[in-house]
Amino acid sequence: MTPDNIASAPQNCGKCGLCLSVCPVYQILKEEQASPRARLQLIKAFETNTLESSFLLKEIISNCLMCGACARICPSGINHYEKFMDMREKMAAALGDTPAIKGLIFLLAREYRLRAGAKMAGVGQQLTPEFLKKKYRLGQIPISCLPQLNPAPFRQTLPEKIRPKSGKPLRGKLVYFSGCATNYMFEDTGRASVKILKDLGYEVIIPRDQTCCAIPLLYHGAGSKARKNIITNIRALACHDYDHIIVDCTTCGAALKDEYPLYIQRLNKEGIDKGDTLSAQAQTISEKTMDILSFLSKFNLKYDPPPPKISRGVYHAPCHSRNSFNSHPRVQDLLRHLPNLEYVPTAEEDLCCGGGGTFFYEHPKTAQKIMEQKQAQITHTNADLWLTDCPVCRLNLQGNLPLDSQTKIIHPVTLICQAMARETP
Ligand code: SF4
Ligand code: SF4
Repeated sequence: MTPDNIASAPQNCGKCGLCLSVCPVYQILKEEQASPRARLQLIKAFETNTLESSFLLKEIISNCLMCGACARICPSGINHYEKFMDMREKMAAALGDTPAIKGLIFLLAREYRLRAGAKMAGVGQQLTPEFLKKKYRLGQIPISCLPQLNPAPFRQTLPEKIRPKSGKPLRGKLVYFSGCATNYMFEDTGRASVKILKDLGYEVIIPRDQTCCAIPLLYHGAGSKARKNIITNIRALACHDYDHIIVDCTTCGAALKDEYPLYIQRLNKEGIDKGDTLSAQAQTISEKTMDILSFLSKFNLKYDPPPPKISRGVYHAPCHSRNSFNSHPRVQDLLRHLPNLEYVPTAEEDLCCGGGGTFFYEHPKTAQKIMEQKQAQITHTNADLWLTDCPVCRLNLQGNLPLDSQTKIIHPVTLICQAMARETP
């Protein structure tokens, strides 16, 4: 066992219960079997052959948002995240998965399939009558509340290399990993991010051959299918010269920063990839990956005076932003200084929203209860904006708002871009 594995071993759990205090699923269900420590004990029993795989065991293991809060607080240093991911793979191998999840894995495992799927879904969105969109749901989310897909994939609408704004001295080179959500759904985030980075004087490279970060595949136990995506992305990023890799989705960021080096290490141990090159490249990628809000917080951004109408906004801190990038205080600071925003801090803005990749679809009742807690926090604020830097959280927050709600959900970079645009019309 390596020191990493020793720390991850479920037998290190002292059953102190600290992880229960931060687990959003346990907080709702209040059942021991929904707790992180119970999952660890079940995994231990499975690994020591005292418990067999079963659909109940698979269900208990999957009833987790993979938010990482338990691993962050655990005094025994257990890496729950890694244990849960590994167990999901074992459960999927033993028991298979639902047709919907198999379909999702099939699409995400090849970029051309995803592109074709997004195109067909876009046409479907245009043709589906409004009454059907209101009737059918994805989890608890009415189809009518899902965002309109981009007319064309975001990456296809821009050159691979974007020069810094003219007249600005070259500050450096950045690679922008745009992820699936920005590429197919939230191009507004991508455009704002590129404009800000360009205006700051950076050359921005958006590698053409990047693909899904593979986190959804890993979450659903499709570790072997994730291999092609991970190696494609490592090669796509490594062939450029850059100072940092910028992500606008911290789940993609967590993949690049935390998962890729571990995954390649595992391939090496299993003798599947014995070369050092991928390991070294994955390590460099990990060290250079930054979420865009943390990156922007390093600058003393200059804004013009605010417009007459200021937005009133609350913030939702996504789990990966907090647990992988620890960016919450930096984002709060950015928001406090934005001239076009009256930022209203709310209690527990760092509480998970219940989105968790496909958790909102697979466990809609629990997800809805978690969401109700979030909504209760903002009802008194009269906010017209709910800001968040994770696309799944954005989709989940938007999808659970009342149909007549005037609150808009956007990525904070949109507001930053608007404030900077006034500075340089
Ligand atoms: S915080 Fe860690 S040591 Fe404590 S019960 Fe949870 S898993 Fe076990
Ligand atoms: S990852 Fe999050 S949801 Fe899953 S057990 Fe840990 S705290 Fe609970």
